[in-house]
Amino acid sequence: MTLLEARDLVVRLPVEDGVVHATQGVSFSVAAGEVFGIAGESGSGKSVLTQALTGLIRGAQVSGSVTFQGRNLLRLAARDLCGLRGSQIGMIFQDPLSSLHPFHTIGRQIAEVIHVHERVGGAEARRRVVAMLDRVGIADPDKRFDDYPHQFSGGMRQRVMIAMALVLNPPLVIADEPTTALDVTVQAQIISLLDEMRRERGTAIVLITHDLGLLSRIADRVMILYAGQRVEIAPSRSLFAQPAHPYTAALLRSSPGHHSPGGEIAPIPGRPPSLLVPSRACVFAPRCTEAMPICVARKPPLRLFDDGARALCWLEDGARAPAPRTPAGAP
Ligand code: SF4
Ligand code: MG
Repeated sequence: MTLLEARDLVVRLPVEDGVVHATQGVSFSVAAGEVFGIAGESGSGKSVLTQALTGLIRGAQVSGSVTFQGRNLLRLAARDLCGLRGSQIGMIFQDPLSSLHPFHTIGRQIAEVIHVHERVGGAEARRRVVAMLDRVGIADPDKRFDDYPHQFSGGMRQRVMIAMALVLNPPLVIADEPTTALDVTVQAQIISLLDEMRRERGTAIVLITHDLGLLSRIADRVMILYAGQRVEIAPSRSLFAQPAHPYTAALLRSSPGHHSPGGEIAPIPGRPPSLLVPSRACVFAPRCTEAMPICVARKPPLRLFDDGARALCWLEDGARAPAPRTPAGAP
C-alpha cells in the first residue's frame, strides 16, 4: 500500500543572484512499513526535498504534489499540516539538542506531543512517555523523565527524539541525517532501534543521509539525488550490488566500505554543477567518465532495468557493463 507519493516535485528557492533549482521534478513513492532511503552529497537537494514534503520550507516556490493518506500536503493549510506532524508523520533531525527545549524536562517535552494531539490526563501521558523511553532504551525511564536535555549524552538525546517521533505511533517517520552527529557505536544502536520499530509497528521510514553504508544495512529501496534530480531509484540490494547510474557507481567507489574489495577509495573528480541554471542535458555529464556527445546535448531518458532499478542515463546498460558476448564462430 502506498503511504506517501511525491510527483514531479519542483522546489525553487529565490536567492540574491537568481533562483536555486533545488529539486527538478522528483517523483517517488513510499509503501507502508518500508524503509526508503534518500541519498546524495551535500547540496544534492536531500534536505530541501524533505522540508518540502512536510511543509517546513519557507519562501520557496514548490510545485508538483505530495500525497499522504489521500491528501496533497502541498495544499494543506499550515494548521492541518501541524496536526499531521507528530500524530501521522514523526520527524527526527540531525541535531537533537537544537530541537529540544533546554529548560523543559525531556518527559514534559514528549508528553507535550501527546497533549497537543489527544485529550489525556497528566498521569496517563506520563505513563505512556515512560513506556516509550523504556522502549527506546533509556535506562531508569521513570527517573529520567524529570531530567533536562543537557543531562543526556548525544546518543541518548537522539533516542529521546525517536521516542518523541514515535510516541503517537505515526505510520510515517522522516529522519534527516539522524545519526550524523553520533559516534559509530551509537549510530549502529540508533539504526537497529529504528529497524526494530519498523518491524514491531510497521512504521514506514524515509531516511535521508549521505551515509550509504547506513542505507545498505536498513533501506528497502534507495533514491539517489544529484544536483536536484533523481538519477537512480532502485531496490537496495541491486543498487549496492549493481548500481545502474554512473553517478551511483562513482558514489559507491568514493565511499568507505563500498569500494570494491582491495580497491582504492576513488573520490569523484570535479564538483556538482551550479543549481542556478537548470540543466538541459545530463546533470552528471561534466564528471561522468562515460559521457558521450548526446549526454551534453539532451536530457537522458529514464531507463528501467529487469530488477526494478531506474536510472536517468543515455547508456543502454547504464553503469552496468553489458554481458560479454561470445564471438561468432567460437566454440
Ligand atoms: Fe554519463 Fe551520459 Fe549517463 Fe549522463 S547520460 S550519466 S553523462 S553516460
Ligand atoms: Mg542536509
